[in-house]
Amino acid sequence: MDTQVIVIDEHNIDADKIRVAGKIIRDGGLVAFPTETVYGLGGDGLNPESSKRIYAAKGRPSDNPLIIHIARLEDLYPIVSEVTEDVLRLAEAFWPGPLTMILPKSDRVPYETTGGLDTVAVRMPEHKTALAFIEAAGGYVAAPSANTSGKPSPTMATHVIDDMQGRIDMIIDGGAVGIGLESTIVDMTEEVPMILRPGYITQEMLYKVLGEVTMDKTLMGEDTKEAPKAPGMKYKHYAPKGDLTIVEGSEEAVIQQINALICKGQARGERVGVIATKETMDYYKADVVKCAGSRQCEEEIAHGLYAILREFDDDEVTLIYSESFESLGMGQAIMNRLLKAAGYQVIHAE
Ligand code: AMP
Ligand code: MG
Repeated sequence: MDTQVIVIDEHNIDADKIRVAGKIIRDGGLVAFPTETVYGLGGDGLNPESSKRIYAAKGRPSDNPLIIHIARLEDLYPIVSEVTEDVLRLAEAFWPGPLTMILPKSDRVPYETTGGLDTVAVRMPEHKTALAFIEAAGGYVAAPSANTSGKPSPTMATHVIDDMQGRIDMIIDGGAVGIGLESTIVDMTEEVPMILRPGYITQEMLYKVLGEVTMDKTLMGEDTKEAPKAPGMKYKHYAPKGDLTIVEGSEEAVIQQINALICKGQARGERVGVIATKETMDYYKADVVKCAGSRQCEEEIAHGLYAILREFDDDEVTLIYSESFESLGMGQAIMNRLLKAAGYQVIHAE
């Protein structure tokens, strides 16, 4: 398949290009597009054949449901069976934006899109190109992240081209994304709303609007017997080729421990990479040291994390050590993605 790559500037949207992209979706095709979180791989969310194509293009297991992206609040009503006051409150506070809500689905939504579930995940993104594209596509764009299964989510068009060239009809290049981690997912079908995936919208921000919100206990560790409520969270996504381990502890202890591990690894002939921060990067003696950003700015770390993991694949390091990020804000989302990428390998430095 020939994949057309077109550039659209969010601040000067070319209506003709958007129309062409929208028509591809309405005709059952697939288009990757930028959002403020990561790039999405879009198809018509109400067309079962389109959803099947998305799973095939990504190589994604079909029990891992897709998020339906809408552009207008009124488009929510036809695809869900109930809209509560709390749902409207969250929509008012965070839509358009990086929040996905799990809601009871209506008959309009095919089971192919929801991975067989009676609930549907819905989000209204903030990116202007995404919003224009969703409207042109008929209002309901099902989209997972536009990476092949097992790779980090794409935060730049080049990542999408690497993964999806030849597999989909079109890629809209909108430059680098803003946030760089996937949306927060909150399950609104639970008695008390429950976070199924942490993201830019933090527990505290949700708490302020809802008054109560819990977090799926399986999210931050794997030593639990229960399966996570978001089917996608059980897969080891984002795994870099090199063996990734997170080292936690005080700054000084972490630097010492990682440097000792680098020495040991190199003595065995390993090529070693480190995910460091601005504050610490000069202290490491690894083959490749990448700076995720400053600890003073978690947004910066979230923004660069996936690109760093992809770069390590190109650098062909065989071992990677990462500092840990444990704050209660964005740190939760960063740590959740890192833990998954590391297959939950964590060392405590003393
Ligand atoms: P992605 O689109 O790649 O960011 O993945 C979407 C995430 O949303 C996956 O982790 C899914 O398992 C989750 N998800 C989508 N729909 C539902 C649903 N109805 N219930 C629970 N989780 C869902
Ligand atoms: Mg994904």
